[in-house]
Amino acid sequence: MNSLLNNRKGFYPHYIKELDNEIYLYNIITNGIFLLNQQEYKALVGNIDINNEQNKEIKNFFEENFIIITDKNKKILDKLYQKTISSKKGLNATSLTLMVSQACNLRCKYCYGDGGEYSHKGFMSYEIAKRAVEFFVDQTQEKKLNICFFGGEPLLNYDLVKRIVDYTKDIAIIKEKEFTYSMTTNATLITPEIEQFIQKNKISITVSMDGTKETNDINRYYANKKGAYDDINAKTVNLKNFITIRATIAPPNLNIEENLVHIIEELQYKRTAWAEADNLLSESDYEVLFEHTMKLYDRFEQMLKEGKITEVKKYYSFVNVLRKFYHDGIRSKGCGSGTNMMAVDIDGKIYPCHRFVGVEASILGDVCAKEMNDTKFYLQAELANFEKCKYCLARSICGGGCVNENFFANNFINEPSKKHCDYRINIVDRLLEIFIHMSDKEKQLLLD
Ligand code: SF4
Ligand code: SF4
Repeated sequence: MNSLLNNRKGFYPHYIKELDNEIYLYNIITNGIFLLNQQEYKALVGNIDINNEQNKEIKNFFEENFIIITDKNKKILDKLYQKTISSKKGLNATSLTLMVSQACNLRCKYCYGDGGEYSHKGFMSYEIAKRAVEFFVDQTQEKKLNICFFGGEPLLNYDLVKRIVDYTKDIAIIKEKEFTYSMTTNATLITPEIEQFIQKNKISITVSMDGTKETNDINRYYANKKGAYDDINAKTVNLKNFITIRATIAPPNLNIEENLVHIIEELQYKRTAWAEADNLLSESDYEVLFEHTMKLYDRFEQMLKEGKITEVKKYYSFVNVLRKFYHDGIRSKGCGSGTNMMAVDIDGKIYPCHRFVGVEASILGDVCAKEMNDTKFYLQAELANFEKCKYCLARSICGGGCVNENFFANNFINEPSKKHCDYRINIVDRLLEIFIHMSDKEKQLLLD
């Protein structure tokens, strides 16, 4: 790998990448990628003086593309950054996660709900759910809103899910809002009636499943240790268009290539997403995972060369990262936790997102008391306050990572997990190569 992170005085931090006998510059602040000629490269590494009149064109190119720091560039970037931040100050959620159930019929080994035995087991009441929806609707001026049913296993409280969908149909008319719905479920409780309900209300379903039967059933099983794989498949046969399969990457299942390909090519699901369970992965696990990830990316690159864009699109987490090179400008946050997202637990407490539920220090308020704590959570979650990310290659792609993961790794939401960072930085380098190799047409078809 011929790459170099350059943090020369007077220049915005950037990454210089040699690929196929060409030199590219990746600006880690603006997310811009540029092909450089020899003279531009020499100027970049200080072998040519850009203030010399004969190098005026190079200086202009550097200034126009925010490669050098000038007063004009500083002002423009500050303004853009402030604009991004001010659009995310405090809670203005367009997505509400309702923890309708704090209980589960599975006992997954890696579950953060103590293997399905939740410490504060129970179900959300209709009264609390209604208050949560009212609070959610009143705290934003936005018209398009999403409600995500989450748990535990949300289908253990299916009656509440139905009642809330009905209720929001009335609210949509009264308050002039448009609701969409989603649900994260283990799928094992889906019945023909629930299937119809999902289809009728166009509920996007995320089903947790980790890959092949062997892989899945090591970690995902019932109290009697029977694996859930067969039931998941049987219950989702008619729902493949509504489902994203979400795989949790945790030991001993590090063969990401085999498992994701199984989900898409053998089981014929239309979309899969995946995420590393950082708290369960050791440094050596990450090393193994990195090797498998590289094989998976080689496979995707080959598929792109063969024009299989529709097939590659099914691997959502891969496409989603590439989209960040394509669309995103300046990044001010990793995610919308506590700004455009909120979660409400069975007791009405408000949290920044579903993963923080139960973390007392992160409680934002209470829908019953209709009040908010002044936690300044959103300020701490700003990328500008992440010291480690300042000059990181992955800055514009990961934005400081999952702040919940940071919190559990290091007790601070702006202190990322080092082993996860090392993995991410290495994969971003490879993703950059894939992105550079793609034609404009491929980018448009895959990433628009
Ligand atoms: S990889 Fe780590 S250091 Fe880099 S931007 Fe992400 S969280 Fe920050
Ligand atoms: S904190 Fe983590 S789990 Fe919560 S929304 Fe952000 S990325 Fe997702």
